[in-house]
Amino acid sequence: MNVYDSERMSEALGEDGYEETLNPSEADMILLNTCHIREKAAEKVYSELGRFKDLKTVKPSLKIGVTGCVAQAEGDEIIKRQPLVDLIVGPQSYHNIADLAANAVDGKKQVDIAFPEEDKFSVLKGKRSAQRGPSAFLTVQEGCDKFCAFCVVPYTRGAENSRPVIRIIDEAKQLVQSGVKEITLLGQNVNAYHGDGPDGNEWSLAKLIWELEKIDGLDRIRFTTSHPNDMTPDLIEAHGQCKKLMPYLHLPVQSGSNKILKRMNRSHDAESYVSLISKIRDARPDILISGDFIVGFPEETENDFNDTMSLIKEIEYGQAFSFKYSTRPGTPAAERDQVPEEVKTARLHQLQDLIKQQQKSIQDKMVGREVQVLFERTGRFDNQLVGKSEYLHAVNVTDPTISVGELKQVKIMKSNANSLSGSLSN
Ligand code: SAH
Ligand code: SF4
Repeated sequence: MNVYDSERMSEALGEDGYEETLNPSEADMILLNTCHIREKAAEKVYSELGRFKDLKTVKPSLKIGVTGCVAQAEGDEIIKRQPLVDLIVGPQSYHNIADLAANAVDGKKQVDIAFPEEDKFSVLKGKRSAQRGPSAFLTVQEGCDKFCAFCVVPYTRGAENSRPVIRIIDEAKQLVQSGVKEITLLGQNVNAYHGDGPDGNEWSLAKLIWELEKIDGLDRIRFTTSHPNDMTPDLIEAHGQCKKLMPYLHLPVQSGSNKILKRMNRSHDAESYVSLISKIRDARPDILISGDFIVGFPEETENDFNDTMSLIKEIEYGQAFSFKYSTRPGTPAAERDQVPEEVKTARLHQLQDLIKQQQKSIQDKMVGREVQVLFERTGRFDNQLVGKSEYLHAVNVTDPTISVGELKQVKIMKSNANSLSGSLSN
């Protein structure tokens, strides 16, 4: 979502005369868009900021801003810790950046971490364009009301909020007109989407996907991240029937232990997750399942961890993201008995080894199959292009006739460490 937000900021600032540069020493303003989900991500902000000190010495007029969830969570504490920062802008105030920057003169610090009444998306300037090639993100929903005991999202991104259908369709059309072929719908809890529809009713994510499917020139639709409890029957059915909806689903479970799931306030158990995955696979048998796991959540015993390993074996993941539990100030789990760091590290390695095996075995099974690849960029070698299959596997093909942005049928010839290689099908 931060990638998407950064694009929106850059497009909006473009309307105010700013131009983007990738070279910090050329910049009049540097914005550090930050993540607060785990401690490591938040701490990285301060080491990054330190690197800008010399630039500001050379060019005192340089403005340095911190945006994103660290800005939201820490506010002007950031300026106390790193006085070279001029502006702090929370995720709901990005439409104000140009004004805040204009006021950030003569050492006047600007802080905007409000949750305003107005929807920033309806006032953010700028036209959407294919900034990063033929695959683009589009935020449809922000915030979360679920309050999992480990998570900062409800505090940093605020309450769950869905954008109106019309705005999303309009933005998708702008992206497609500029060359985008694949759109990934984003939300911290995207399948809880319930935006105002043009018919005056609230639309579900599935209904929104069916509407997006009608856009000519848009070939692929994906969405992330979902909560198991919001996987409604119409969304499961869409996975079976909607041609443009790709056979890939990121559905985090976090743990396989019912005791831990309860302590996490996840409001689902391991059995309901397993049966949900089986329903989804009934609708779309070849779907690739991806997940998120937290190891070493407070009070997690060896038995609880083994329950997570068993669940992983039962599901067979094609992809997964796993993390050691990180204490986040202000969340309920931060106050509980913590699992020792070395235990967390050992469990994480064990879990990641298992996931890697599953991932590789699913990837290896693609050899000999024909997949459809959207080519996103040039590769390291002459005439090599890199793209993504329907299942989100990276696929490289060496062929001078292909261009970035094209969708082609590819026969997979080889499974590498983290990618597949193939050649165009005849
Ligand atoms: N809405 C999604 C997750 C969004 S946060 C869901 O409900 O699953 C992305 C991932 O970060 C989470 O799935 C979780 O695995 C991880 N995460 C969040 N808070 C964390 C914490 N305090 N420590 C470790 N991992 C965390
Ligand atoms: Fe965080 Fe996801 Fe739980 Fe919401 S549902 S609190 S975003 S982990």
